[in-house]
Amino acid sequence: MPTHEVFNQPPALTGYDVADDAAMLSALRREGAGWAEGAVRELGRLAGSAQAQEQGRQANENPPKLRTHDRFGNRVDEVEFHPAWHELMTVAVRHGLHAAPWRDSRPGAHVARAAGFYVWGAADAGHCCPISMTYAIVPALRQAPGLAERFEPLLAAPEYDFGLRPPETKRGLLAGMSMTEKQGGSDVRANTTQAIASGDGSYLLTGHKWFTSAPMGDLFMVLAQAPGGLSCFLLPRVRPDGTLNSMRLQRLKDKLGNRSNASAEVEYDEALAWLVGEEGRGVRTIIEMVNVTRLDCVLGTATGMRAGVTMAAHHAAHRTAFGRKLADQPLMASVLADLAIESEATTMAAFRLAGATDRAVRGDEREAAFRRLALAATKYWACKRAPAHAAEALECLGGNGYVEESGMPRLYREAPLASIWEGSGNVAALDALRALMRQPESAEAFFAELDQAAGADTRLDQAVIRLRKELSDPSEARARHLAEAMALALQGALLVRYGDPAVADAFAASRLAGDGGSSAWGRAFGTLPAGTDTAAIVRRATPAVLA
Ligand SMILES: Cc1cc2nc3c(=O)[nH]c(=O)nc-3n(C[C@H](O)[C@H](O)[C@H](O)COP(=O)(O)OP(=O)(O)OC[C@H]3O[C@@H](n4cnc5c(N)ncnc54)[C@H](O)[C@@H]3O)c2cc1C
Repeated sequence: MPTHEVFNQPPALTGYDVADDAAMLSALRREGAGWAEGAVRELGRLAGSAQAQEQGRQANENPPKLRTHDRFGNRVDEVEFHPAWHELMTVAVRHGLHAAPWRDSRPGAHVARAAGFYVWGAADAGHCCPISMTYAIVPALRQAPGLAERFEPLLAAPEYDFGLRPPETKRGLLAGMSMTEKQGGSDVRANTTQAIASGDGSYLLTGHKWFTSAPMGDLFMVLAQAPGGLSCFLLPRVRPDGTLNSMRLQRLKDKLGNRSNASAEVEYDEALAWLVGEEGRGVRTIIEMVNVTRLDCVLGTATGMRAGVTMAAHHAAHRTAFGRKLADQPLMASVLADLAIESEATTMAAFRLAGATDRAVRGDEREAAFRRLALAATKYWACKRAPAHAAEALECLGGNGYVEESGMPRLYREAPLASIWEGSGNVAALDALRALMRQPESAEAFFAELDQAAGADTRLDQAVIRLRKELSDPSEARARHLAEAMALALQGALLVRYGDPAVADAFAASRLAGDGGSSAWGRAFGTLPAGTDTAAIVRRATPAVLA
């Protein structure tokens, strides 16, 4: 005899289309990649399938293992992954979420890739790290045209070919980035790794790196001190003659989240590398890579927010408490709507930046200038919002959200990472300030973007006036405030021009109105002003479960 009936639990959230996301789809079309909608929807259905979710779970519950030596005592420096990791990587590479858009001349190719990255990341965030670094290495590598000619076709090839072999013998390559050392990550000029010219045009690198993720990649962009100063190098994991390059994996990090992915401490002992760009211009060279991974930090954050609010809205649509569905309880509706507003605003900014990237790559200097400032500010603010967003989404599931198998703990542990990577919060905010002060064309392009929304909403107009006033006396100590205000103004401008009217109105009422009165937005999610059309907003975040 059963002891009890299970009821008032939601159906599993599987078999849905992650790409069924109105804010993302309209941004995809607006930014010039409407042609990719069919492929994005296909990938969205795959990401929402029970199979992909299971692969994400398995890859995280069976984290990678380091094997430094073989049974005979020879160094092998290999990392072993669960088969689910390889499945996830295969899908990502087959769908061109890595370097493929660099070899695709269609306008919007980078936006199409951004949409794929956004939806597929819902299956697992960890494997997106090597995918992102492989995407990002190309603009930096192009500063060494000979190396780009050799490796770019393989970096862009839609083939996931795992294993340590000479790069040119593989069907497809993956890349990584090796900058951070024990004594400093943000301040890379403090790097101590030495590069010595070997006489044949190559260099030998000796030193250590404190964080190098995805160490089973084939090529790494490494910073090291050459005679001419800090320089950027391309380091192959296996030398062209087939011998293992001396990139020794010391340990894998035991990380808070991002557990499917491996992040290693490495030592280089006269490791072969090739110079990229000029000696002494390492930071300037590698920044081309960092800027692209920053875009993925924003996209990945948008993915996490969308996943969180989708899971929360799904739960609340099916769970009853005190005689009503949770979604129909006015206070829960306010929490869910607030989470959905944050998620849509982040998605819209992320896609505007993906569009700017696409146009900048094709030579649009104004878009490049816009992106310079808007990306730094948005990277700061979107990533800063992620942990609070994940915590609140988790709480919508009550105790179930605190339990591993709900998927919420994984989302929550992942949430702070994008803010640390590629310029931690303060560094990103200071970078926005630097762009503002030193690159007037960036500030001009940024404000021209805001001006296009002028007159549409008085709360936005007032926020832009306050922002301009603050800019007249900028200071380092206020850089976070400034970056936040810039990011909010951009999100507001995009929403009033292109967003859903209920979302745009609630965003302006909560994030931009500076009245501070009793109807004002509070500091936690779920404090939207009375009169907000929460039901309409929550509907946009509630997934349709197919079967
Ligand atoms: C999971 C994971 C994977 C990673 N993978 C890689 C990788 O593949 N390759 C790689 O090179 N690195 C990698 N990193 C390292 C990461 O990029 C660095 O941790 C990050 O850049 C910060 O550097 P740091 O840890 O040395 O901290 P620090 O530079 O010491 O910074 C500490 C704090 O001080 C703040 N700060 C720094 N400068 C200033 C300033 N001027 N004013 C005010 N505040 C300041 C920072 O914002 C931060 O909050 C990874 C990190 C993690 C967590």
